[in-house]
Amino acid sequence: MTNHARPFHLAIALASLASPLDVAARAAEHMSAAHASIRAADASRHVHALADDALEGREGGSRGGRAAGAYVVGSIEKLGLQPAGDNGTYYQNFGSLRNILALVPGGDPALAHELVVVGAHYDHVGYGNASNSNGPTGYVHNGADDNASGVAGLIEIAEALGHLPSPPRRSILIAFWDGEEKGLLGSYHFLRVRPAAVAPFTIVFSVNLDMIGRLRGERLEVFGARTAAGLRMACLEANAAANLELAFDWEITDDSDHYPFIAARIPTVMFHTGLHDQYHRPSDDTHLVNFGGMEPVARLAFDFVTAVAADPRPPRAFRPECRGESAATRRSLEAPAVDVVAAGPRPRWGVGTRGDRCEPEAPVVVRVAAGSPMARAGLMLGDRIVAIDGQPLADQQDMLAKLAAAADRATVDVDRKGRRVRLEATADAAAVGQP
Ligand SMILES: [Zn+2]
Repeated sequence: MTNHARPFHLAIALASLASPLDVAARAAEHMSAAHASIRAADASRHVHALADDALEGREGGSRGGRAAGAYVVGSIEKLGLQPAGDNGTYYQNFGSLRNILALVPGGDPALAHELVVVGAHYDHVGYGNASNSNGPTGYVHNGADDNASGVAGLIEIAEALGHLPSPPRRSILIAFWDGEEKGLLGSYHFLRVRPAAVAPFTIVFSVNLDMIGRLRGERLEVFGARTAAGLRMACLEANAAANLELAFDWEITDDSDHYPFIAARIPTVMFHTGLHDQYHRPSDDTHLVNFGGMEPVARLAFDFVTAVAADPRPPRAFRPECRGESAATRRSLEAPAVDVVAAGPRPRWGVGTRGDRCEPEAPVVVRVAAGSPMARAGLMLGDRIVAIDGQPLADQQDMLAKLAAAADRATVDVDRKGRRVRLEATADAAAVGQP
């Protein structure tokens, strides 16, 4: 034994006496290691491989489509993921198409039978035809954004899951869908016919990544956040590290693999960086992909998925009303309230909100009285109030009660376009009465 050995053993002994603080610090360390494993350089490597001309546009069932499948399988094999396809393989075959499925078993025996499906389609339109290309057809459509980007993001998310010290409570299925461009064939097939490896599970939630490679101005589109109550709040929390601007779109259309899940009444969220002029054209290529922007998008999706899978509460119920909601419904919820001339005493805070049954914990600001304490604090129409003095809200009534009980200074946390913003408000000394 040398002198050098002693401090080493001492360090081991100290490390084993973990305080709760150490445990929290280590959890944060694992989370940041997981985040750090999601790298633009890796995403770039995957996108370049999948969007290579040699893969001829990855049309489902074609030579290039099969080569793309082999690349995906090679990538998840390296990560040591458990196959969940047919007969112990990663592939779920149907006709000439193949979904690719891998399982991360849940860590809680009581919840591990509940499955969170995270998917991205890996096919594209090949050389394009009149029905699937915006032209010109006859050239390789590399689909770098659509959807080599989502596949790359999902491979990175799968890698990050491996950096967690223990798996989340619920099981997670990593799914690469085939035949999306032929009519969402892979996701529909999976919901109809499940491989034996996945059959025992109950699907409780799904997440879809489609076109995440064109982040512009930090703006990420989120679809499906009204398929269950509280999903907007869940997105806000998952966005804490990525801090992107979230554009919640209430429309639900059958244009990607989130749709079959929603039609099957499974709460589903889709992340998407938006359409562009190269959509379904040969010009959707690698040089236009924002690889740096894929990092925060994939990290947000990772945080969202792990939070859903780790949540000890019962799974969120599907909210059928989402099918009747649209951009117009959203506008009417967020419409500014007509400002009435106040006859009584000056309001203490100067804020008016409208409750949202889908997001009771985040009432929408629809009135900010000019010159009021809330206006001075910087509160804006369309903000959603999510906490008063650091305390989360049960609902709008609770918000009113907390504002009424607050001292003359209050901290107001708002969800502003999916970002949490903290405002400091000082009430008018002379003012009394309602908020
Ligand atoms: Zn497409």
